[in-house]
Amino acid sequence: MRTFVVSPKLTAYGAVLLALNLVAMAWRVSGQQVKRSSVSDAPRIRATVPAGAAAVAARQRFLEMFARAYFPGRTGQLLVVPREGDFITRPDPDVAYMHGSPWKYDVSIPLMFAGSAVKTGLASMPTLTALRQRSAWFTQAEVNFLPTNTPVGHSTISTGTDPGVHGITGVSVYDRTHHRGHPLFAERMPQDLMTLTLADIWQLETAGRAVILAQGSIERAATPLAGHGACQLNGTPVVLASYDRQTGAWATNPDCFLLPAYLKDRNARTLWQTSADWMGHRIDSPSAVRYSALFPAFEADALIAMIEHEPVGEDDVTDLILLNYKCADFVGHKYGPDSDELRATLGEMDRHLARMLSALEAKVGANYLLAVTADHGMPSKPLSPDRRHFAPAIIDLLNEKFDPEAKQLITSFEPEDLQIFVDEDRLKYLGLTLRDLAHFLESQPFLFAVFTNDDVRRAAHAAKRVTPTRGRSKYK
Ligand SMILES: [Zn+2]
Repeated sequence: MRTFVVSPKLTAYGAVLLALNLVAMAWRVSGQQVKRSSVSDAPRIRATVPAGAAAVAARQRFLEMFARAYFPGRTGQLLVVPREGDFITRPDPDVAYMHGSPWKYDVSIPLMFAGSAVKTGLASMPTLTALRQRSAWFTQAEVNFLPTNTPVGHSTISTGTDPGVHGITGVSVYDRTHHRGHPLFAERMPQDLMTLTLADIWQLETAGRAVILAQGSIERAATPLAGHGACQLNGTPVVLASYDRQTGAWATNPDCFLLPAYLKDRNARTLWQTSADWMGHRIDSPSAVRYSALFPAFEADALIAMIEHEPVGEDDVTDLILLNYKCADFVGHKYGPDSDELRATLGEMDRHLARMLSALEAKVGANYLLAVTADHGMPSKPLSPDRRHFAPAIIDLLNEKFDPEAKQLITSFEPEDLQIFVDEDRLKYLGLTLRDLAHFLESQPFLFAVFTNDDVRRAAHAAKRVTPTRGRSKYK
């Protein structure tokens, strides 16, 4: 798993660590821009499934990836992997593209550390390209758990643990007690996150003296970056600025976190005052504007305001700034990773990244460590339209087959979670097992593998669990 490395020198001199999260397609697209000509340059998607021994090995690897994210009471009953090049989404034009799978296009997440303390190792986004020249740049970094989505990825990045430890197993889990979906980090509540985060440890270790700023444009990314704030024992309310797509303003959860006064009057509605269209698309609502290259300016402006207003780098305590730089994910979901829309968005993100770094350097000089990584990637346009699948149709398929009268067998299926929740009482009443359902699903040509909760639990127990706090923290 990723770990954040801060050298003793940096800590002693009170520099700033800035962690940015982007989605991985940022680099892939930028790397292609020089020679790209058509969609055929897009990342290779094999037209066929791996055969024979390769398929067996892949299946086992994917089972182990699910096992790393196994959490009692949360993991779904059926865990599905779409065939490579197929993906499952919901019938919503904002998410015409959907990640979540273990295939290369979803798991490759380059990782970069830049700063005066970094020894260099190893596009066309000039800021990122320039950073790459002076960074430790890990091109082979991959997500090694499933599903590959925002809350799971951000919780793993911010805690350094597997989802099986931190407990964030998807965008949403099914609440069997209240018979409803339970979105993780709803209302920016960190309580479902079962492990301390980097920000949590940071504020405890510095007795609340470090400046800790977290910002994100969706609550399930912003909240895990902020950690538990004042909602942990002896915790302090760190800054959490989380975009509210209903109001267009920055919001927080005041029980655990703080929203600075100078952010309260900012509103994304200012972004479409000159035009309600962007590249031929309507963007005149706080929700729609996120799917445009206008949005990164709004994200960057807020972070710059925080850097300028807060006492960042002003004492000998190292401060921590965490940013979910989200727009590439929104635009990627709607228009795809190979679209002109995403290319325009990445250009804007790069331009505003330069502004954020300038603001930081104006405040603290060169004495900072920057870590940049991603939570997941995004599949390209399917080779044929019938390789895009919809979760409600899969729920209908299962209910039609196994529970045609009541249609109550399947309780929930969020496509980016790759987990189908089954009413196990109903299953028993119908005289069925999860294996029956898994067999049926595996016979569908668009699915590569289907595991049951039992398969994953057994694999989780068989695997040697890596516990991140092994003996080194006093907060065990
Ligand atoms: Zn996403």
